[in-house]
Amino acid sequence: MVKKLKIFLAAPRGFCAGVVRAIEVVEKALKKFGPPVYVRHEIVHNKHVVESLKKKGAVFVEELNEIRDTSRPVIFSAHGVPKSVPKEAENKKMFYIDATCPLVTKVHREAERHNKNGYKIILIGHKNHPEVIGTMGQIPKENITLVETIEDTHKLNLEGPVAYVTQTTLSVDDTKDIIKVIEKKFPNLKAPIKEDICYATTNRQSAVKQIAPLCDMFFVIGSDNSSNSKRLVEEARKAGCNNSRLINFEKKFPIQEIIKCKKIGLTSGASAPEKLVQDFIYEIKKYVEVTIEEFVSIKENVTFKLPSSLN
Ligand code: SF4
Repeated sequence: MVKKLKIFLAAPRGFCAGVVRAIEVVEKALKKFGPPVYVRHEIVHNKHVVESLKKKGAVFVEELNEIRDTSRPVIFSAHGVPKSVPKEAENKKMFYIDATCPLVTKVHREAERHNKNGYKIILIGHKNHPEVIGTMGQIPKENITLVETIEDTHKLNLEGPVAYVTQTTLSVDDTKDIIKVIEKKFPNLKAPIKEDICYATTNRQSAVKQIAPLCDMFFVIGSDNSSNSKRLVEEARKAGCNNSRLINFEKKFPIQEIIKCKKIGLTSGASAPEKLVQDFIYEIKKYVEVTIEEFVSIKENVTFKLPSSLN
């Protein structure tokens, strides 16, 4: 008898508007200026995306001083950069294109505004993530404090008016808990006018929460360094599917475990191409009869304009 498996496919999943824009920036720059075009840091946190852009002539570096030919354009990744980076490029007389997601830029401007108005700023986020480095680098370091956990908030010792901003790809629920504690500590705390956790993060987490309780296993397609993908795995576990994992195609495909399941859940992080989701399903279909139920929690229609230098 052929074994049967049901796949609950989350929607929305995969590429967000910021990722689509960042990839398009590199592709358009390659067309307009010809290769090589340098990219500072992985344009988005996905190996497949990076490898395919490398083949087209993009050269990835971590810092500007690794760039040998400074006459070539350099693109800053979707995660954003500290102010020192464009300044360094200007000093080196380099032509740069900023592919920072507009929703990350919104957080940068917010932090700047609070700083100008005399607030001490709390940034809720993950240490060493490029987006956090970029946001902290918008204002003098003595005016911004990183908080990762509720425990960190107990150590806060800030004088004067206090505001907070957050990383865009955090867990919606965990962040709410941290904010509640900060609000108690600083009753006049200034909050962002509009939520900093972005629409794509919120929507992908919400879809996962609804599907995960129905599943024997849950898979999130995404890279190990993708913050929003890692949060999706955590959300699936919290929602009741303990056997939830991040999967990328460098790791062994756990087919023996999958074929023991009746129902699995599947989604992909905001930087993972849809092709990887379809490849995953294709692999499973070699072993079991699959029925797919797509669970659409909300329709997205967000798009962002390209930087004017690419027109
Ligand atoms: S996850 Fe959100 S903030 Fe990050 S690139 Fe996508 S839309 Fe922008």
